[in-house]
Amino acid sequence: MKITEILPSWFEYPLTIKIGAMPRFKITGTILRIKTDEGVTGIAGTHFVNADKGLVAHIKGWEKILLKKNPFETEKIWRDIYNTMNRITFGIFQSISVIDCALWDIKGKVLGKPVYQLLGGYQNKVKAYASFPWWVNPKALSSYLEPALERGFKAVKVRIGKNIDWDQRVLQTVRDIGGDDLEIMADVNSGYTFRQALKIARIAEKLDLRWLEEPLPSDDLVGLAELRKRVDVDIAGGENDAYTWRFREILEKGAYDIIQPDVTRSGGITEVKKIAAIAESYGKLCINHIFGIGPIQYANLQLIGAVSNCPYMEYGFFPDEFLMTTAPIEVDKEGFAHLPEKPGLGFELDEEVFNKYKKD
Ligand SMILES: [Mg+2]
Repeated sequence: MKITEILPSWFEYPLTIKIGAMPRFKITGTILRIKTDEGVTGIAGTHFVNADKGLVAHIKGWEKILLKKNPFETEKIWRDIYNTMNRITFGIFQSISVIDCALWDIKGKVLGKPVYQLLGGYQNKVKAYASFPWWVNPKALSSYLEPALERGFKAVKVRIGKNIDWDQRVLQTVRDIGGDDLEIMADVNSGYTFRQALKIARIAEKLDLRWLEEPLPSDDLVGLAELRKRVDVDIAGGENDAYTWRFREILEKGAYDIIQPDVTRSGGITEVKKIAAIAESYGKLCINHIFGIGPIQYANLQLIGAVSNCPYMEYGFFPDEFLMTTAPIEVDKEGFAHLPEKPGLGFELDEEVFNKYKKD
């Protein structure tokens, strides 16, 4: 079996959001199709990088490595791309990630199995947490939370990081609405200084949060490790990091209780499987970061199905159309997401919706 064609394209969705330290941005993303001489096509998506046009060109550039290769040789293809990036990672992390995910989709489709089973299936369902992708005013929170609780979600994540008073009102409101049994996560998206992070971490501790995410800029591993020593709440992060060596450093420095790589950003399924194994050796949880369209959710869910240290799936509350798949991931009345039994990554792209927002 051989790879015959590489077809990346990007889209822009008319939804602008503001998260943590980031300025307001419009959601974009890239979809990659990899064709083979046996008629099987692998499809995967990746997160916006605000430079999708560049990402498309970058992925096209890997034709020299991908064409005529056997798509089953993910380890070899991964290493050839990585070595060409020269370790200091010339290029864009998302390109190696989305290529690897599309190749795993091919493998699953050829063998007629979902990817998580090929990776050594561990679980066929996992607790999903409702993740609200933008800041919600405390007064409007019930209109977000109540539908999620009614659907069966037992855990929710809210965005904070606006200012301490506002954050405190958000978290207290969520606790009041959800009660003591609701698992609450809060995400600062790298938005605070050490002093602010300490304040919000103490509030998180008092309200018994399941975890506090990226309270400090994700490159401040020393500050994160210091914060962890001073509070009794789990600190999570890693969505902006990639590759095994970086996560080894993060774990060695004791920056997080929970690491959060993303298969569409941190090096693909091949690499994040290894990152999860390193976390396991440190006795840490590895709970994938998932943000964006359905293909990103499905690819991460496949990895979650194959590791023993990921007890949650991040389930973004986006408009249905934005997911761009023909069916959303199924979440049952107890709040568990079910691994798809379809071959490959398990989704079908909604071509009509994708074409509506496709740019190039
Ligand atoms: Mg986050």
